[in-house]
Amino acid sequence: MPAGEPWAGRGRTWRALSAAEQCVDLGVGTIFRAHTDFVIDRYAARVVKIMIYAGTAAPDAPGTRTGGIPLTPPGFEWPRCRRCAGAMQFLAQVSVAEAEAGSDSPGLLSVFMCQNDPGMCGDWDPTSGGNRAFVFGADAAQTPTVPGEGVTLLGESCAVRVEEVDAEDYVEAQELWLQETGGRELDVVGQLGGRPMWVQSDETPTCGGCARPMTFVVQLQEGHDTQNAANFGGGGCGYGFRCGPCGNAAFLWQG
Ligand SMILES: [Zn+2]
Ligand SMILES: [Zn+2]
Repeated sequence: MPAGEPWAGRGRTWRALSAAEQCVDLGVGTIFRAHTDFVIDRYAARVVKIMIYAGTAAPDAPGTRTGGIPLTPPGFEWPRCRRCAGAMQFLAQVSVAEAEAGSDSPGLLSVFMCQNDPGMCGDWDPTSGGNRAFVFGADAAQTPTVPGEGVTLLGESCAVRVEEVDAEDYVEAQELWLQETGGRELDVVGQLGGRPMWVQSDETPTCGGCARPMTFVVQLQEGHDTQNAANFGGGGCGYGFRCGPCGNAAFLWQG
């Protein structure tokens, strides 16, 4: 499709961009299409990938899920809290490729948080040592030994179905999904990629390796069922990030 020649789609008229125009990055990937009146359309930003609870999963199920036992590389040592030295609780693993448009990364972002003395270990903070996040590669195919003491696992291993909603942001996507499906609010367990919706102010972590802002991978709700849910202060959200070039990951939550 040559630049300038319009075509119809999704109820609008589109045209291909010239090479110069394609260098527009809204933080969600390069925008390859513009509306004919050249208002940069929020085409890419309008697809919000929400995570829907899809029933109980096997504790060692591959791909994106909450709870269960993490899939890890050989020799992985279960993380311990820097504050209290207790074994952390595994919260979720997320397929990086599922979260990031255009990525073919085999990686899994894996999130742990100390719950041995809730509120005392700085478990909401990305640098306190009260939580840990990892990006594992294609060799993350084993289940590690779960420590015998401490709060290590959630009560349920939950399968996650990803649904793409044409919406402005995560909040609108949740509302639209609820309206369209009549589903339960608690069944929306998070969003993959896109833009984080902060409960408080923007706390995008900086990579410890390259000092650049990290890439948003996942926003997690506490869970579909309060009994087996993660503890983000009672109704808060967790946020997972990674730095692709450095292989680092970070986690924080806000309530
Ligand atoms: Zn601790
Ligand atoms: Zn980095």
